[in-house]
Amino acid sequence: MKNQVIIIGSGIAGLASSIRLANKGYQVQVFEANAYPGGKLAEIRQGGYRFDTGPSLFTLPEQVEELFTLSGKNPPDHFSYIRLPVNCHYFWEDGTHIKAYSDTGKFAEEVASKLGEKRENILQALENASFIYKYLSPLFMHRSLHRIGTWVGSNALKAYVRLGKLGLFQTMNESNQKQFTHPKMVQLFNRYATYNGSNPYQTPATLNIIPHLEFNRGAYFPEKGMHAITESLYKLACELGVQFHFNQKVEKIVVEKNRAKGIQVNGKVHKADLLVNNMDMVNAYKTLLKDQQQPTRLLQQPKSSSALIFYWGIKKTFPELDLHNILFSEDYKEEFDHIFSKKTIYRDPTVYINITSVYKKDDAPADCMNWFTMINVPNNQGQDWTLLTSRARSAIIEKINRTLNTDIEPLIEVEELLDPITIETKTASANGALYGNSSNNRYAAFLRHANHSRIKGLYFCGGSVHPGGGIPLCLLSAKIMAEMIPENQGSTNTL
Ligand code: FAD
Repeated sequence: MKNQVIIIGSGIAGLASSIRLANKGYQVQVFEANAYPGGKLAEIRQGGYRFDTGPSLFTLPEQVEELFTLSGKNPPDHFSYIRLPVNCHYFWEDGTHIKAYSDTGKFAEEVASKLGEKRENILQALENASFIYKYLSPLFMHRSLHRIGTWVGSNALKAYVRLGKLGLFQTMNESNQKQFTHPKMVQLFNRYATYNGSNPYQTPATLNIIPHLEFNRGAYFPEKGMHAITESLYKLACELGVQFHFNQKVEKIVVEKNRAKGIQVNGKVHKADLLVNNMDMVNAYKTLLKDQQQPTRLLQQPKSSSALIFYWGIKKTFPELDLHNILFSEDYKEEFDHIFSKKTIYRDPTVYINITSVYKKDDAPADCMNWFTMINVPNNQGQDWTLLTSRARSAIIEKINRTLNTDIEPLIEVEELLDPITIETKTASANGALYGNSSNNRYAAFLRHANHSRIKGLYFCGGSVHPGGGIPLCLLSAKIMAEMIPENQGSTNTL
């Protein structure tokens, strides 16, 4: 008889965990509070428009493909994607428009010709990013930080001897000010801190690892949209025999003699040999594990930023806009001070516009575009979100009008909103944070919850635990977690 595993939550890490553990011979059941899988990686449709609701930037696609290969399938038969020729278009109000070509030589030329920044500075910055990735990713992305083996192997030794060059002792902004001469380039590279919800004026320069992923490894777009990641993995899990129970909000993790025994849903107990929690770790301890010892220090870590997103159906096309577009704030430092210190929204926010209909035409009616219009905002600390949202909407519209020389409001024919409160209601993410803990100090990586627990038989995956938020890291959290669990031998009580 197969051992039973229950997974709480079908976010991207919950789906990946179900696939990995089914491949290890377990009978896997997933209990999901929502009526659909994917958590933050969902979609909405309205008035002829389709919108991916959460993640829009896709890197390290091999992490998705690996799940198909592991299951004996040919990945392209189930999930296809393209590499973007231009990662992002950057706009400033003075009319500067930089295309971040994925070809790094071409990008360096573009920056040199438009800003006078030396070509070599760009190429050297990307080289530095690659250096950090080479020495830190084997430790911080692919291994548990909570196993002694991680710290005594050759990878650790290689990192120790290069500690001074890995960006731990200066902030991202300090490092970028040394790397570039033009303030617009400092701003562009500082933006990478937002990829895990952090503040470039606080986060260590180690996070300069992120441009390596986008430029050297590539930014991609799934041909059927971001939601295809969820759909294809959900389908794969079902084919492997994983059973999904939707609209089933788990109320409690049942623990006896320090061993996880099952879950309680609607007052009924479901037993399992192993449990994997994909619910946000903070809220899981507050609700499902409220009778258990709390990891107080980990629970108190500052959360990442959140977001305000307007899903707009726009009845016009803008040829200057691509899949990813950034309309930069005139004062980036002030914007981040507002988000992380003042816990409010700056009057001139950086606006991100993601338009999947550029690549996937049927995401919008003819001659229209689906705009996912997002600004970074503080996580929910009880602010008056009705007031902040209304002010931010006006500020965003004015910013778009000034930068793109248009009048956008009359062109909006469909509108939906996602704010920190709805992010928390829909996915149980603590304070509506997008990426779990922020990385605003050099110890942040060590203050994320491990992928295992002091409660026997209980494991953790997802953006709120090691190695952190974002699709690739969530997929890696499932991998690290699954590697801790032995192949199922088919007998009971072996664990
Ligand atoms: P989540 O998506 O958080 O899902 C958790 C699941 O658990 C949910 O389905 C929830 O309903 C379920 N659950 C919770 N409590 C219970 C319970 N008690 N019982 C049963 N089920 C429960 N990442 C990128 O890589 N690129 C991006 O461009 C990007 N942009 C983003 C933009 C936005 C607006 C947001 C919100 C996120 C973005 N992210 C991005 C981050 C990325 O979406 C997340 O890191 C990732 O999707 C989190 O996955 P997860 O597995 O932790 O689970």
